Amino acid sequence: MAKIDLKGRVAIVTGAGAGLGRQHAIELAKRGAKVVVNDMGGTRDGVGHSDAAANKVVDEIRALGGEAVPNYDNVATVSGGENIVKTALDAYGKVDILVNNAGILRDKTFNKMEEENWDAVVNVHLRGAYCVTKPAFVNMRENGYGRIIMTTSGAGLFGNFGQSNYAAAKMGLIGLTNVLKLEGAKYNIKTNVIAPIAASRLTEDVLPPQLFEKMKPDFITPLVLFLASEQCQDSGMIINCTLGYYSRSAVLTGPGVFLSDGHRVPEAEEVMEAWDKIKSMENPKYFDQLPEMFSVLGPLLS
Ligand code: NAD
Repeated sequence: MAKIDLKGRVAIVTGAGAGLGRQHAIELAKRGAKVVVNDMGGTRDGVGHSDAAANKVVDEIRALGGEAVPNYDNVATVSGGENIVKTALDAYGKVDILVNNAGILRDKTFNKMEEENWDAVVNVHLRGAYCVTKPAFVNMRENGYGRIIMTTSGAGLFGNFGQSNYAAAKMGLIGLTNVLKLEGAKYNIKTNVIAPIAASRLTEDVLPPQLFEKMKPDFITPLVLFLASEQCQDSGMIINCTLGYYSRSAVLTGPGVFLSDGHRVPEAEEVMEAWDKIKSMENPKYFDQLPEMFSVLGPLLS
Protein backbone atom coordinates (compact mmCIF):
# COMPACT_ATOMS: atom_id res chain seq x y z
CA MET A 1 0.00 0.00 0.00
CA ALA A 2 1.45 3.40 -1.01
CA LYS A 3 2.15 5.57 2.03
CA ILE A 4 0.57 8.97 2.48
CA ASP A 5 3.47 11.31 3.08
CA LEU A 6 2.81 14.98 3.80
CA LYS A 7 6.43 16.03 4.24
CA GLY A 8 6.98 19.52 2.86
CA ARG A 9 3.25 20.31 2.93
CA VAL A 10 1.81 23.22 4.91
CA ALA A 11 -1.59 22.71 6.52
CA ILE A 12 -4.05 25.00 8.25
CA VAL A 13 -6.62 23.42 10.54
CA THR A 14 -9.26 25.79 11.91
CA GLY A 15 -10.76 25.06 15.30
CA ALA A 16 -7.84 22.72 15.98
CA GLY A 17 -7.66 23.38 19.71
CA ALA A 18 -10.06 20.55 20.57
CA GLY A 19 -12.18 17.69 19.24
CA LEU A 20 -11.81 16.65 15.60
CA GLY A 21 -9.57 19.56 14.63
CA ARG A 22 -7.00 18.70 17.31
CA GLN A 23 -6.86 15.12 16.05
CA HIS A 24 -6.50 16.24 12.42
CA ALA A 25 -3.71 18.70 13.32
CA ILE A 26 -1.71 16.13 15.31
CA GLU A 27 -1.99 13.43 12.63
CA LEU A 28 -1.18 15.84 9.78
CA ALA A 29 1.95 16.83 11.69
CA LYS A 30 2.84 13.17 12.33
CA ARG A 31 2.72 12.66 8.54
CA GLY A 32 5.24 15.47 8.12
CA ALA A 33 3.02 18.50 7.43
CA LYS A 34 3.82 21.84 9.06
CA VAL A 35 0.61 22.89 10.74
CA VAL A 36 -1.07 26.17 11.64
CA VAL A 37 -3.21 25.32 14.67
CA ASN A 38 -6.01 27.90 14.65
CA ASP A 39 -8.44 28.15 17.54
CA MET A 40 -10.25 31.06 19.11
CA GLY A 41 -10.74 29.08 22.28
CA GLY A 42 -14.33 30.07 23.06
CA THR A 43 -17.18 28.10 24.55
CA ARG A 44 -19.27 25.55 22.65
CA ASP A 45 -21.71 28.31 21.67
CA GLY A 46 -18.92 30.60 20.51
CA VAL A 47 -18.54 32.98 23.45
CA GLY A 48 -15.17 34.14 24.80
CA HIS A 49 -11.60 33.82 23.64
CA SER A 50 -8.52 32.03 24.94
CA ASP A 51 -5.11 31.32 23.45
CA ALA A 52 -4.74 28.21 25.62
CA ALA A 53 -6.54 25.77 23.29
CA ALA A 54 -4.30 26.40 20.24
CA ASN A 55 -1.14 26.66 22.38
CA LYS A 56 -1.78 23.28 24.00
CA VAL A 57 -2.11 21.48 20.66
CA VAL A 58 1.01 23.20 19.29
CA ASP A 59 2.88 21.98 22.39
CA GLU A 60 1.56 18.45 21.81
CA ILE A 61 2.72 18.47 18.18
CA ARG A 62 6.15 19.85 19.09
CA ALA A 63 6.52 17.26 21.87
CA LEU A 64 5.96 14.58 19.21
CA GLY A 65 8.73 16.12 17.08
CA GLY A 66 6.37 17.86 14.64
CA GLU A 67 6.22 21.45 13.41
CA ALA A 68 3.35 23.76 14.30
CA VAL A 69 2.49 27.38 15.02
CA PRO A 70 -0.58 28.69 16.83
CA ASN A 71 -3.13 31.21 15.59
CA TYR A 72 -5.97 32.60 17.69
CA ASP A 73 -8.08 34.45 15.11
CA ASN A 74 -11.82 34.22 14.61
CA VAL A 75 -12.52 32.41 11.32
CA ALA A 76 -15.73 34.39 10.88
CA THR A 77 -14.07 37.70 10.00
CA VAL A 78 -12.26 38.65 6.81
CA SER A 79 -9.29 40.01 8.80
CA GLY A 80 -9.25 36.82 10.90
CA GLY A 81 -9.19 34.62 7.78
CA GLU A 82 -6.44 36.71 6.22
CA ASN A 83 -4.38 36.55 9.39
CA ILE A 84 -4.76 32.77 9.66
CA VAL A 85 -3.40 32.40 6.13
CA LYS A 86 -0.71 35.03 6.80
CA THR A 87 0.41 32.97 9.80
CA ALA A 88 1.05 30.05 7.43
CA LEU A 89 2.78 32.25 4.84
CA ASP A 90 5.00 33.98 7.41
CA ALA A 91 6.00 30.74 9.14
CA TYR A 92 6.20 28.33 6.20
CA GLY A 93 5.80 30.32 2.94
CA LYS A 94 2.66 28.70 1.47
CA VAL A 95 -0.60 26.86 2.10
CA ASP A 96 -1.13 23.38 0.63
CA ILE A 97 -3.89 22.00 2.84
CA LEU A 98 -6.82 23.75 4.51
CA VAL A 99 -9.18 21.94 6.85
CA ASN A 100 -12.22 24.12 7.58
CA ASN A 101 -13.27 22.61 10.87
CA ALA A 102 -14.04 25.40 13.40
CA GLY A 103 -17.59 25.19 14.64
CA ILE A 104 -20.12 26.14 17.27
CA LEU A 105 -23.70 25.15 18.07
CA ARG A 106 -26.74 27.16 19.17
CA ASP A 107 -29.62 24.71 18.85
CA LYS A 108 -33.21 25.93 19.04
CA THR A 109 -36.41 25.06 17.24
CA PHE A 110 -36.97 27.37 14.29
CA ASN A 111 -39.91 29.26 15.81
CA LYS A 112 -37.58 30.38 18.63
CA MET A 113 -34.53 31.01 16.44
CA GLU A 114 -33.48 34.62 17.08
CA GLU A 115 -31.40 36.53 14.58
CA GLU A 116 -28.39 36.51 16.92
CA ASN A 117 -28.30 32.72 17.15
CA TRP A 118 -28.93 32.30 13.44
CA ASP A 119 -26.15 34.72 12.52
CA ALA A 120 -23.60 33.41 15.04
CA VAL A 121 -23.80 29.85 13.70
CA VAL A 122 -23.98 30.78 10.01
CA ASN A 123 -21.07 33.17 10.51
CA VAL A 124 -18.68 30.62 12.02
CA HIS A 125 -19.49 27.72 9.70
CA LEU A 126 -20.28 29.35 6.36
CA ARG A 127 -18.81 32.84 6.48
CA GLY A 128 -15.83 31.33 8.31
CA ALA A 129 -15.23 28.97 5.40
CA TYR A 130 -15.36 31.94 3.01
CA CYS A 131 -13.06 34.12 5.12
CA VAL A 132 -10.31 31.51 5.47
CA THR A 133 -10.67 29.71 2.14
CA LYS A 134 -10.54 32.90 0.02
CA PRO A 135 -6.95 33.92 0.91
CA ALA A 136 -5.85 30.27 1.04
CA PHE A 137 -7.34 29.61 -2.41
CA VAL A 138 -5.48 32.60 -3.85
CA ASN A 139 -2.16 31.16 -2.60
CA MET A 140 -2.99 27.62 -3.73
CA ARG A 141 -3.89 28.91 -7.20
CA GLU A 142 -0.52 30.66 -7.45
CA ASN A 143 1.23 27.44 -6.41
CA GLY A 144 -0.85 25.19 -8.67
CA TYR A 145 -1.67 22.89 -5.77
CA GLY A 146 -4.23 22.70 -2.98
CA ARG A 147 -6.33 20.35 -0.92
CA ILE A 148 -9.35 21.88 0.85
CA ILE A 149 -11.51 19.91 3.26
CA MET A 150 -14.87 21.26 4.40
CA THR A 151 -16.70 19.86 7.42
CA THR A 152 -20.43 19.47 6.87
CA SER A 153 -22.92 17.52 8.97
CA GLY A 154 -25.66 14.94 8.58
CA ALA A 155 -27.85 17.62 10.21
CA GLY A 156 -27.63 19.53 6.93
CA LEU A 157 -27.47 16.59 4.53
CA PHE A 158 -30.46 14.79 5.99
CA GLY A 159 -32.07 17.16 8.55
CA ASN A 160 -31.99 17.21 12.35
CA PHE A 161 -34.65 18.62 14.65
CA GLY A 162 -33.65 21.90 16.34
CA GLN A 163 -30.65 22.67 14.12
CA SER A 164 -32.00 24.96 11.38
CA ASN A 165 -29.15 27.49 11.67
CA TYR A 166 -26.46 24.80 11.73
CA ALA A 167 -28.06 22.69 8.96
CA ALA A 168 -28.41 25.72 6.67
CA ALA A 169 -24.80 26.76 7.23
CA LYS A 170 -23.50 23.24 6.72
CA MET A 171 -25.38 22.87 3.41
CA GLY A 172 -23.94 26.20 2.32
CA LEU A 173 -20.55 24.50 2.43
CA ILE A 174 -21.77 21.95 -0.12
CA GLY A 175 -22.73 24.73 -2.53
CA LEU A 176 -19.37 26.41 -1.98
CA THR A 177 -17.58 23.11 -2.63
CA ASN A 178 -19.59 22.49 -5.83
CA VAL A 179 -18.18 25.73 -7.23
CA LEU A 180 -14.63 25.43 -5.83
CA LYS A 181 -14.28 21.98 -7.39
CA LEU A 182 -14.85 23.66 -10.79
CA GLU A 183 -12.84 26.84 -10.21
CA GLY A 184 -9.93 24.94 -8.64
CA ALA A 185 -9.75 22.14 -11.21
CA LYS A 186 -7.25 23.85 -13.53
CA TYR A 187 -4.94 24.59 -10.59
CA ASN A 188 -4.92 21.10 -9.03
CA ILE A 189 -6.98 22.35 -6.10
CA LYS A 190 -9.28 19.59 -4.87
CA THR A 191 -12.11 20.49 -2.51
CA ASN A 192 -13.93 17.72 -0.66
CA VAL A 193 -16.36 17.52 2.24
CA ILE A 194 -16.51 15.29 5.29
CA ALA A 195 -19.69 14.59 7.26
CA PRO A 196 -18.41 13.16 10.55
CA ILE A 197 -20.12 11.79 13.64
CA ALA A 198 -17.76 11.71 16.60
CA ALA A 199 -17.48 12.35 20.31
CA SER A 200 -16.67 15.97 21.19
CA ARG A 201 -18.13 18.71 23.35
CA LEU A 202 -20.60 19.39 20.51
CA THR A 203 -22.07 15.89 20.78
CA GLU A 204 -21.68 15.06 24.49
CA ASP A 205 -25.36 15.74 25.17
CA VAL A 206 -26.55 14.33 21.83
CA LEU A 207 -24.89 10.91 21.55
CA PRO A 208 -25.92 8.12 23.93
CA PRO A 209 -23.10 7.58 26.51
CA GLN A 210 -22.07 4.14 25.17
CA LEU A 211 -21.70 5.56 21.65
CA PHE A 212 -19.93 8.68 22.94
CA GLU A 213 -17.27 6.41 24.46
CA LYS A 214 -16.74 4.57 21.16
CA MET A 215 -17.01 7.33 18.57
CA LYS A 216 -13.50 8.72 18.86
CA PRO A 217 -12.42 11.56 16.55
CA ASP A 218 -9.56 9.19 15.61
CA PHE A 219 -11.94 7.43 13.21
CA ILE A 220 -12.47 10.65 11.21
CA THR A 221 -8.87 11.73 10.75
CA PRO A 222 -7.72 8.97 8.29
CA LEU A 223 -10.27 10.33 5.82
CA VAL A 224 -8.92 13.86 6.29
CA LEU A 225 -5.35 12.61 5.78
CA PHE A 226 -6.29 10.97 2.48
CA LEU A 227 -8.27 13.99 1.25
CA ALA A 228 -5.29 16.18 2.22
CA SER A 229 -2.86 14.08 0.20
CA GLU A 230 -1.54 14.23 -3.37
CA GLN A 231 -3.04 10.78 -3.87
CA CYS A 232 -6.55 12.23 -3.62
CA GLN A 233 -7.49 13.14 -7.20
CA ASP A 234 -11.22 13.57 -6.61
CA SER A 235 -12.96 16.85 -5.96
CA GLY A 236 -16.50 17.64 -4.83
CA MET A 237 -16.99 14.42 -2.87
CA ILE A 238 -19.14 14.38 0.27
CA ILE A 239 -18.04 11.56 2.56
CA ASN A 240 -19.88 10.40 5.69
CA CYS A 241 -17.66 8.92 8.35
CA THR A 242 -17.93 7.45 11.80
CA LEU A 243 -16.52 4.47 13.69
CA GLY A 244 -14.61 3.17 10.66
CA TYR A 245 -17.59 3.50 8.26
CA TYR A 246 -17.07 5.70 5.19
CA SER A 247 -19.65 6.35 2.46
CA ARG A 248 -20.43 8.93 -0.20
CA SER A 249 -23.48 11.17 -0.22
CA ALA A 250 -24.49 13.17 -3.29
CA VAL A 251 -27.24 15.32 -4.71
CA LEU A 252 -29.02 13.14 -7.25
CA THR A 253 -31.83 13.89 -9.69
CA GLY A 254 -34.71 11.58 -10.49
CA PRO A 255 -35.75 10.65 -14.05
CA GLY A 256 -38.56 13.20 -14.05
CA VAL A 257 -41.38 13.54 -16.50
CA PHE A 258 -42.14 15.71 -19.54
CA LEU A 259 -45.54 17.43 -19.23
CA SER A 260 -44.94 19.72 -22.17
CA ASP A 261 -43.24 20.06 -25.53
CA GLY A 262 -41.42 23.16 -24.26
CA HIS A 263 -44.01 25.56 -25.73
CA ARG A 264 -47.27 24.92 -23.87
CA VAL A 265 -47.22 25.76 -20.13
CA PRO A 266 -48.68 22.82 -18.17
CA GLU A 267 -51.66 23.26 -15.81
CA ALA A 268 -51.14 22.90 -12.02
CA GLU A 269 -53.51 19.92 -12.18
CA GLU A 270 -51.17 18.16 -14.59
CA VAL A 271 -48.37 18.60 -12.05
CA MET A 272 -50.68 17.14 -9.39
CA GLU A 273 -51.57 14.17 -11.59
CA ALA A 274 -47.92 13.45 -12.36
CA TRP A 275 -46.66 14.03 -8.80
CA ASP A 276 -45.60 10.41 -8.16
CA LYS A 277 -43.49 10.41 -11.34
CA ILE A 278 -42.04 13.87 -10.61
CA LYS A 279 -40.85 12.84 -7.15
CA SER A 280 -39.61 9.40 -8.21
CA MET A 281 -35.93 8.74 -7.54
CA GLU A 282 -35.75 5.63 -9.70
CA ASN A 283 -32.44 5.37 -11.60
CA PRO A 284 -31.22 8.80 -10.46
CA LYS A 285 -28.63 10.84 -12.36
CA TYR A 286 -25.64 12.71 -11.00
CA PHE A 287 -24.78 16.08 -12.55
CA ASP A 288 -21.21 17.22 -12.09
CA GLN A 289 -22.21 20.83 -12.82
CA LEU A 290 -25.28 22.88 -13.75
CA PRO A 291 -24.87 22.81 -17.58
CA GLU A 292 -25.13 18.98 -17.46
CA MET A 293 -28.73 19.40 -16.32
CA PHE A 294 -29.51 20.66 -19.83
CA SER A 295 -28.60 17.26 -21.25
CA VAL A 296 -31.89 15.78 -19.99
CA LEU A 297 -33.99 18.57 -21.51
CA GLY A 298 -33.02 17.53 -25.04
CA PRO A 299 -36.08 18.00 -27.27
CA LEU A 300 -37.52 20.83 -25.14
CA LEU A 301 -34.61 23.09 -26.03
CA SER A 302 -35.32 23.20 -29.77
P1 NAD B 1 -15.34 21.11 19.19
O1 NAD B 1 -16.19 22.10 19.89
O2 NAD B 1 -14.61 20.12 20.01
O3 NAD B 1 -14.27 21.84 18.27
C1 NAD B 1 -14.55 23.01 17.55
C2 NAD B 1 -13.41 23.98 17.77
O4 NAD B 1 -13.64 25.13 16.96
C3 NAD B 1 -13.31 24.47 19.22
O5 NAD B 1 -12.02 24.20 19.74
C4 NAD B 1 -13.60 25.95 19.13
O6 NAD B 1 -12.88 26.75 20.06
C5 NAD B 1 -13.22 26.27 17.70
N1 NAD B 1 -13.91 27.47 17.20
C6 NAD B 1 -15.23 27.75 17.32
N2 NAD B 1 -15.51 28.93 16.74
C7 NAD B 1 -14.34 29.40 16.23
C8 NAD B 1 -14.02 30.56 15.49
N3 NAD B 1 -14.93 31.48 15.19
N4 NAD B 1 -12.73 30.72 15.10
C9 NAD B 1 -11.79 29.80 15.41
N5 NAD B 1 -12.06 28.69 16.13
C10 NAD B 1 -13.33 28.47 16.52
O7 NAD B 1 -16.30 20.35 18.16
P2 NAD B 1 -16.04 19.20 17.06
O8 NAD B 1 -17.13 18.21 17.22
O9 NAD B 1 -14.64 18.73 17.08
O10 NAD B 1 -16.37 19.98 15.72
C11 NAD B 1 -15.48 20.15 14.65
C12 NAD B 1 -16.28 20.36 13.38
O11 NAD B 1 -16.96 19.15 13.03
C13 NAD B 1 -17.36 21.43 13.47
O12 NAD B 1 -17.41 22.15 12.26
C14 NAD B 1 -18.61 20.64 13.65
O13 NAD B 1 -19.76 21.33 13.21
C15 NAD B 1 -18.31 19.45 12.76
N6 NAD B 1 -19.12 18.28 13.02
C16 NAD B 1 -18.93 17.56 14.15
C17 NAD B 1 -19.71 16.44 14.36
C18 NAD B 1 -19.51 15.58 15.56
O14 NAD B 1 -20.18 14.53 15.63
N7 NAD B 1 -18.63 15.96 16.49
C19 NAD B 1 -20.70 16.09 13.45
C20 NAD B 1 -20.86 16.84 12.29
C21 NAD B 1 -20.05 17.92 12.09
